[in-house]
Order: sequence, then C-alpha cells, then structure tokens
Amino acid sequence: MIFDFAIIGAGINGCACSYFLTKEGFSVALFDHVAIASGGSGAAGAFISPKISKKGDIQSLIESAYLFSLDFYNQNFPSMIKNSPLLHIARDEKENKKVKEFKESTALKFSDMPDKTLSLLSDYAKEHESLFLERSATVDAKRVCEELSKDATFFKEKVTELNFNGDHYIFGDTKAKKVILANGAYTQLLNEPYINLRGIWGHRIDVKTTTALDHNIHNFVSISASDQNNILAIGATHNVHFHPERSSEAYDLQSGRDELIEKALKSVKLENIEILADHVGLRCGSNDYFPYLGKLVKTNETLDKFPQLQFGKSVDERKLIYYENLYMINGVGGYGFVLAPYIAKILCDHIIKDENIDHTLEPSRLFFRYAKKVKK
Ligand SMILES: Cc1cc2nc3c(=O)[nH]c(=O)nc-3n(C[C@H](O)[C@H](O)[C@H](O)COP(=O)(O)OP(=O)(O)OC[C@H]3O[C@@H](n4cnc5c(N)ncnc54)[C@H](O)[C@@H]3O)c2cc1C
Repeated sequence: MIFDFAIIGAGINGCACSYFLTKEGFSVALFDHVAIASGGSGAAGAFISPKISKKGDIQSLIESAYLFSLDFYNQNFPSMIKNSPLLHIARDEKENKKVKEFKESTALKFSDMPDKTLSLLSDYAKEHESLFLERSATVDAKRVCEELSKDATFFKEKVTELNFNGDHYIFGDTKAKKVILANGAYTQLLNEPYINLRGIWGHRIDVKTTTALDHNIHNFVSISASDQNNILAIGATHNVHFHPERSSEAYDLQSGRDELIEKALKSVKLENIEILADHVGLRCGSNDYFPYLGKLVKTNETLDKFPQLQFGKSVDERKLIYYENLYMINGVGGYGFVLAPYIAKILCDHIIKDENIDHTLEPSRLFFRYAKKVKK
C-alpha cells in the first residue's frame, strides 16, 4: 500500500496535519521514534492565549490562531480543554507599556481583576499593569495529540533519510506519495542553509498547593487554574544551553524546579507547594519568529538556475526549484498549541485545494534572504 501522506513527527504540528488530512479521507502514515507527543508537545502546559504586545504581524498571526484554536478545541475536543480567564501581569516597566498599548488597541474582551485574585498577588505583581482577559484555556496536550492522530497509522520509527524514487517516498517497507516534515527541534532531515531552527529547552512542573486559583496567570511564568484536586501547572523555563541530543551533561532537574517555584512566588502567594511531576522538552523557534509552513526550496539547484538571486534580483517564487511533494510545518516556538490547528489547516488546504499560504509563513521568504548573502 502507498500512503497518501507520511508525516514525520507526532507532536502537535504533525498530529494537527494528520487530523485535517484524515478528515478529508487521505491515508496518513505518522512516524515518531518515541511516541505521540513525546517531544516539546508532551511538555507543554498548553495554554491557549494571545500574545500581549504591541500590534504587529506576529502578534496578529498569534491572535488569529488563538481565536481559531479556542473554537477548534472547544468544538472538537470539549473534554480536553479547560476554559478559564487569564490574568496577564507585566514583568517590568517596559512591559507595563506593552500591556497598556494592548488594552488600548485590542478588540478582545477584558475586565478588571476580581478582588479575590488581588488578595493572592505579591506586592510586586500588584504594582504592575495587568489585564484580565475573558477567554483563555489550557488543553490536555497528550490526549489532544492522540485524539487528533487517531485515524493515522502510527509507526514507532526514526526516519533517517528522505528517499524519493520520482513517484513516491520510501521509508523501509512503508511508502508515501507526499511527506510533511513536523519533527520540531530534533535532528533535521534536510540540510538547507536557509532553514535555521533553534531548540529552546523548557521545563514545566505540576504542583499541589493549598492555594486555589480560579484562572490562569501569566507573569514571570505561566500558572494554570487549579483543577478539582488542587493541582496546577507552572511553566516554563527557557534554556538555550541544554539540548537533549547535543549536551554532554544531564539536565539539572532541581535547578529548573527551583527557578519555576521562585518565579511563580514572585507573582502569587502559593502555599504548601508539593511538586508532583516534571515535564521537559524542546520548543522550536525560527530566526524571525514566524513558523515555516509550506514547500521547501532546493538551494543549490535554484541558485544554479537563477544566479541573479545572489545580487538581490527578484525571481517569480513559482519558478524556484522545490523538493517534490515535500512540505514543512515547524518553528512555532512557545505557541505550538495556539498556532498548530490554525496553520495545519492552512497547510492542508494548500496541499489539497491549492489555496495560498501567506508569504510571511513560507520557507522561501528565508531562502530569498539567504540567496542575497551567498556568493558562490
Ligand atoms: C515546557 C514547555 C511548555 C510549553 N508551553 C506551551 C504553552 O503553554 N502553549 C503553547 O502553545 N505552546 C507551549 N509550548 C510550545 C509547544 O510545546 C511547542 O511549540 C510544540 O510542542 C511544538 O510542536 P512540534 O510538533 O513542532 O514539535 P514536537 O512536539 O517536539 O514534536 C516533534 C516530534 O518529532 C519526533 N521526531 C523528531 N525527529 C524524528 C525523526 N527523525 N523520526 C521520527 N520522529 C522524529 C520527536 O520524537 C517529537 O515527538 C511549550 C513547550 C515547552 C517545552
């Protein structure tokens, strides 16, 4: 059997693509060398919130995705989403300004913070600008990924190379007509110089505390509303030094825990904290903070055909040389659960219905920048 699609990586990006493709009747082979949601996605607190900052392209992309994804999870996976308002508190003077600007320009609904919440805040948090947003949520990261990918055929295998025979891709005994790369910040299968993906290690903890929180709080870290057992999630650290595939020393779990508790206590007076679980993984960010979504340009072949690209001359994007039937979804940084349903739908509509992908998301945007810099 030849599958219609092979998806490499069963994180939220791969699983969201699997959902939109299988829903349309396509057969999907989903590869992950560990398990579903075993990378960054398994570690995520999976907060669904907008980016509270000045208006701009990335802020507006995340806001569109936040609105889409809230509806998407609520409609399709109501038992896996917990809707709670969000108290966002500025961290410093610079952020005070951003929160104020956001409040002045946003169409999202917000209100004053409830008195009960005010009494739980530290003096530092009380002194800073805040926003009490009506709609935010957390999703059950692992269950959502499992549910999204339930109609795919799962292969617990590491894909080490892309082998295309002119008609389909071959992965051992498995064949697929088209491939979607969704392998996050782990070893890349293509070495194209314009694709720069950075792994940012993150740590989240689940804790039990005698302090009950009715809603999510974002300040130095994100703290979720408590569940019925008084358990809440605190995340996440941003560690650019540790990499599970490259670091020679093991990750220091205790220092991550200490950092998370210290940062949480800077905002909220949480009492009698007991750590119940640790979750760690890599986020994957791009240099310009936008995701990589769509077809991939072959650098050498394209530069040989269009040497003028190196002198900043423009070439119609459609004429560039692309890998056949190969697509990427990656670089969603700290907003994977917000962005994935939204951008996976855009990618699948592009592949199935030939709909456009905005140029700011296409990997070719970075190819053009790279081409100008390189002299062969
Ligand atoms: C601690 C932490 C907290 C976070 N909190 C939030 C949050 O609150 N809200 C939010 O929206 N986002 C959050 N994020 C970010 C979010 O988790 C990521 O953006 C998202 O998980 C990225 O998903 P992905 O599918 O691109 O990658 P991943 O989830 O990393 O998935 C990639 C998968 O590919 C597999 N793989 C890699 N290479 C191969 C190969 N060669 N063959 C087979 N399989 C392979 C890996 O095993 C992995 O399972 C958080 C991240 C972390 C680490």
